[in-house]
Amino acid sequence: MNDIVRIPFSEHQINKRKICKKACSILKALTQAGYEAYLVGGAVRDLLLGKQPKDFDIATNAHPEQIKAVLPTTRIIGRRFRLAHVHFGREFIEVATFRAPHDTSDQGQISHDGRIIHDNVYGNVEEDALRRDFTVNALFYELKTGDILDFVDGMTDIHQRQLRLIGEPEMRYREDPVRMLRAIRFMSKLDFTMTTETEVPIKEVAGLLTKIAPARLFDETLKLFHSGYAVIALGLLREYQLFSCLFPLTEQSFDEDQTGVFSALVYHALENTDRRIRSDNTVNPAFLFAVMLWHQAQKGAKMYREMGNPDLQSVHLAASDVLGTQVKSIAVPRRFSNVTREIWTMQGRFQFKACRRSLNFMKNRRFRAAYDFMCLRASSGEPLEEECQWWTLFQSLSEKDQQLMCQSVVGSPNKRNRSGRRRRH
Ligand code: ATP
Ligand code: MG
Repeated sequence: MNDIVRIPFSEHQINKRKICKKACSILKALTQAGYEAYLVGGAVRDLLLGKQPKDFDIATNAHPEQIKAVLPTTRIIGRRFRLAHVHFGREFIEVATFRAPHDTSDQGQISHDGRIIHDNVYGNVEEDALRRDFTVNALFYELKTGDILDFVDGMTDIHQRQLRLIGEPEMRYREDPVRMLRAIRFMSKLDFTMTTETEVPIKEVAGLLTKIAPARLFDETLKLFHSGYAVIALGLLREYQLFSCLFPLTEQSFDEDQTGVFSALVYHALENTDRRIRSDNTVNPAFLFAVMLWHQAQKGAKMYREMGNPDLQSVHLAASDVLGTQVKSIAVPRRFSNVTREIWTMQGRFQFKACRRSLNFMKNRRFRAAYDFMCLRASSGEPLEEECQWWTLFQSLSEKDQQLMCQSVVGSPNKRNRSGRRRRH
């Protein structure tokens, strides 16, 4: 075991004012009630790096009922490992009781390939440090003294900007393969490297990611691609051969992409996503999946058309195939995959530039996403530049100018009669 290192306030950069007041009030209440309580995890790491933390996690030796007795707005969640959520209206802060690393001799907690199934043994602060993933995520900040407790030499790794798994790396990845994705996420977000020992086993155990519940992989995928560092994350995921476990069809598309059009689509989309997130705009997971799976969806639709199916039906059939395969790796909730499907099925409608149809189309609540997707395709080299320009201009005009613009479209379906059929001559 490592010696405890207590780093006094004078030797680190943590600015107390950056710690959220709610977290401070919990830390104070628990310590006043005689418990140990620390700020821990990503918040301490980010504060040391001068970044504003996303969330503030607290660890304590108080058990969930004891936390609730001190902080009555606590709700206890979870069955196997119970966590306390201390509520402040609709917001809450997670307070976890110290846990011990699992006992490897206990066969009941480990699957045959080394994964932790149950993780429910309370421990002390040092044990709680050792069961965490990376040393830089295992630092404990004590509000009262301003000291940092470091059992794993995490401060050295903070200074050297590197990720080092606590314990034996391959075993720690086998226990929880998601740690590989967390490594990629922190490298992207923090601009850190991995130590050699932490890096080497990844290629060996990458395939274990396929054993992880697809719902958990959905959450991790969004953290990877919706945190403002998606372009870097994609590069690293591919470099460490993890990407194909998440997006097998997309990996196949990259292999088949001889023109580079599909790669350009993905990179442009991820650059846009990063830009949007950094300027606090919203992003929809449906768009990410529409991009990642576009090439296979297009390929499938072409096959169904060649079999004699109508255009729209072909797109629907291909969408079902492609999304059906994707959810085996990442469980995309239906509320998102339905939107992905809509973005794809709407692509065919941009070729019709008749006024009534165009105005109706623009009222569709998915129009914006479908239009953005179409222009992204254009900018990646698909022959849609003209469509993108037409629709961009059309949206910016008054209704009168929109009428004029439609009339100037040669061969416009406007020339059809009311029933929508062409007149016989
Ligand atoms: P973020 O800035 O994304 O919130 P974080 O490090 O706080 O990063 P969380 O998912 O909030 O990440 O987890 C909080 C802490 O819990 C981590 O810092 C780490 O100490 C521990 N932890 C989380 N996931 C794991 C895991 N899979 N294995 C071991 N420890 C973990
Ligand atoms: Mg966190």
